[in-house]
Amino acid sequence: MERAMKEKLVLVGNGMAGVRTLEELLKIAPDRYDITVFGAEPYGNYNRILLSPVLAAEKGIDDIMLNTVAWYEDNNITLHVGTTVVDVDRRRRTVIAADGTEASYDRLLLATGSNPFIIPVPGHELPGVIGFRDITDVDTMLDSAKRHTHAVVIGGGLLGLEAANGLKLQGMNVTVVHLTETLMERQLDEVAAGMLQRSLEAKGLQFLMATQTEAILGDEHVKGVRFKGGLEVAADLVVMAAGIRPNIELAKKIGLHCERGIVVNDTLQTFDPKIYAVGECVQHRGHSYGLVAPLFEQAKVCANHLACYGIGRYEGSVTSTKLKVTGVDLFSAGDFLGDDSTEALVMKDAARGVYKKIVLKDNKIHGAVMYGDTVDGAWYFQLLRDGTDVSDFRDTLMFGQAHLGDSGHGGQNAASAMSDDMEVCGCNGVCKGEVVKAITGKGLFTLEEVRSHTKASASCGSCTGLVEQILASTVGDYSETPKKKPVCGCTDFTHDEVRHAIEDNKLTSIQAVREFLEWKNPDGCASCRPALNFYVLAAWPREAKDDPQSRFINERVHANIQKDGTYSVVPRMWGGVTTPKELRALADAAEKYNAKTVKVTGGQRIDLFGIKKEDLPAIWSDLNQAGMVSGHAYGKSLRTVKTCVGSEWCRFGTQDSTGLGIKLEKMTWGSWTPHKFKMAVSGCPRNCAEATIKDFGVVCVDSGYELHVGGNGGIHVRATELLCKVATEDEAMEYSAAFMQLYREQAHYLERTAPWIERVGLSYVKQKVAEDEVGRKALQQRFLESQEVFQYDPWAKEAEDPQTRKAYIPIKKVG
Ligand SMILES: Cc1cc2nc3c(=O)[nH]c(=O)nc-3n(C[C@H](O)[C@H](O)[C@H](O)COP(=O)(O)OP(=O)(O)OC[C@H]3O[C@@H](n4cnc5c(N)ncnc54)[C@H](O)[C@@H]3O)c2cc1C
Ligand code: SF4
Repeated sequence: MERAMKEKLVLVGNGMAGVRTLEELLKIAPDRYDITVFGAEPYGNYNRILLSPVLAAEKGIDDIMLNTVAWYEDNNITLHVGTTVVDVDRRRRTVIAADGTEASYDRLLLATGSNPFIIPVPGHELPGVIGFRDITDVDTMLDSAKRHTHAVVIGGGLLGLEAANGLKLQGMNVTVVHLTETLMERQLDEVAAGMLQRSLEAKGLQFLMATQTEAILGDEHVKGVRFKGGLEVAADLVVMAAGIRPNIELAKKIGLHCERGIVVNDTLQTFDPKIYAVGECVQHRGHSYGLVAPLFEQAKVCANHLACYGIGRYEGSVTSTKLKVTGVDLFSAGDFLGDDSTEALVMKDAARGVYKKIVLKDNKIHGAVMYGDTVDGAWYFQLLRDGTDVSDFRDTLMFGQAHLGDSGHGGQNAASAMSDDMEVCGCNGVCKGEVVKAITGKGLFTLEEVRSHTKASASCGSCTGLVEQILASTVGDYSETPKKKPVCGCTDFTHDEVRHAIEDNKLTSIQAVREFLEWKNPDGCASCRPALNFYVLAAWPREAKDDPQSRFINERVHANIQKDGTYSVVPRMWGGVTTPKELRALADAAEKYNAKTVKVTGGQRIDLFGIKKEDLPAIWSDLNQAGMVSGHAYGKSLRTVKTCVGSEWCRFGTQDSTGLGIKLEKMTWGSWTPHKFKMAVSGCPRNCAEATIKDFGVVCVDSGYELHVGGNGGIHVRATELLCKVATEDEAMEYSAAFMQLYREQAHYLERTAPWIERVGLSYVKQKVAEDEVGRKALQQRFLESQEVFQYDPWAKEAEDPQTRKAYIPIKKVG
């Protein structure tokens, strides 16, 4: 009885947008409709996005099913698979399928997707010429790869390149033909497109750029392709990936208003208010979309109106793009080309294969394109969509979210830096807060569970790592699903496993590590290269050779880049003590090199701002002559030892804090560490040198020296914990060297002492440094040995060598 009173909803098109609308509807109004679905394809609903990984043999068909036939049964949905709707009698409100099946409706939802655009050149109907749209196309490609050799892909856009990559991995000889000079010209600027092309060429793909197809050759089956100009290329398979066209055939036939797509309003209604439309087939405010994120936003709004809740309007979407080719990291969003009204921040590091361009307008991100290091893509996209004013952190914007505020806390974990309202999954519009709430509220423990409850990571999969990080940080160590966090996507090994392999097998170069541990990406990436460089240097200081290309920009140029592209120069002032001679040299240098600001830093040093890059070697040389060396203010290394005046001048002082600070700095300067390392010595518990928010702090007391560790004064202020108390200065020196060496040998790269101690536990550190005397002395010994290699002034080295001056090419800033 109740069933008879329900309204009838019919969905035409069993694809991603249509079924997502049903899922949203079932969430909010499960009993409102009797639902019937018609799908032309002979399957349940599958994740079309993942056809590329299926072609690349990274996934099977079963892995990409979103809703099996059982799901429809469980939800009392009548499903007609392999059944194309050919007509709709709008007067009788009835849909009619090709096989004669009819279904009446109160509301009709059209979600007929798109068709690949097949260029109508002679021969385009020959067998062996296909699009890349569905499972049948993938089957044809896989079959062709088994029997044939040559493939031509027409179109160097996202789909074409994913098809070409998959066919290459299936063993075919693949030529990509593209009409313009650069690949993916609607998503990438020239530089990124060039880098992409080179890396795909390295994978074995061939390209014919600025080339127009004239005819497909062959009699009964495709044999080749001829291009304008007469060039002919052999082909047993031609994949047309030259764009898509909204599938409006049915809508037009039944008299709905269509332009490029089926025209809908903000509630996703067509000109017939009983008929709704979502997905690639629609045109909304003049736009049609070819990516799932906007389609899922449409689905949500449409479901809301089908449920008669009457709230929510779809107002259009901003989209971002990622390419799903393993080993190629690429991201673009918004207007990345810019114009006269915009400015662009550009960073290109050809040796590391990294390129980033951020287009700003009125101090807001207008567009971004990134190649080689896309970790911060989601963050930039969020800033772009929110219209955030970036003036406050513009100077570090280029270096990503982990450098925000330079707190150094867990820089390796992007998830921990995210706020709850930040988007994790771009395809499904899921924010971090929703994921955390689902994990804690529903007791989820696995990625699969998070996917099915929140949809995060359920579409293109590029946010999977981020979702795993949130899962790990929310559930902690769940013993039934032990998870280990690899260094990065290039390997499955963790930081600890990599460090052990380096030590146990005497691996002394980044290359040796990658080969020994069979890195998935033989060249590594922007995350693993600096980490491996540090690990080999820390383990084998005498044998390993520094790879400057695997260091961050500031470390490579021994100065801190500022937001106007100039640099700041900070010489070392031992323990914060200076002399008239040094001050005179600083004043001279400030005048000679036009320093715009002279500033005393929080670490008791003098900072000269606004130095031009080409002047760096000369200013260093001048400062060297006054006896000053680099302050390493830019490095993952010892920064400063801050002191108070102590017993020499202060009436409360218990020990010579200044003297101890100078000794500590002279022992530890030049040492590379996993992250920056700061020290301080206060002459009494009044603690004027703020020793209890440093990585290693000494508080002098009448009976000796309290040694404190693991403090931090950044965004997340953390007070130190007491390591132990010692009686003499020599002991304070010994313990500090041992602590620093333990941190160097055991912390993960980019892990400050605070999170490291939280991870391993203070008692472990106490046991190694305070309780085990033999172990402590061995640690100290290894520290001092390493210092014999690394304790030199990089400024003097660079300033002496005229050749190295050429390397000081500034980050380019246009506009
Ligand atoms: C290889 C590939 C890779 C992609 N990669 C990405 C990506 O990385 N990121 C991203 O966001 N997007 C990606 N996309 C795009 C994404 O898959 C589409 O945007 C999305 O699937 C569109 O959903 P839709 O429901 O509008 O259309 P579809 O998913 O195509 O569904 C339409 C369905 O309607 C059926 N149909 C049509 N007419 C009728 C009729 N008259 N009767 C019955 N059934 C009918 C069709 O057979 C089809 O099954 C990719 C697409 C492809 C092909
Ligand atoms: S910490 Fe103590 S000794 Fe040092 S300046 Fe302050 S009061 Fe004086």
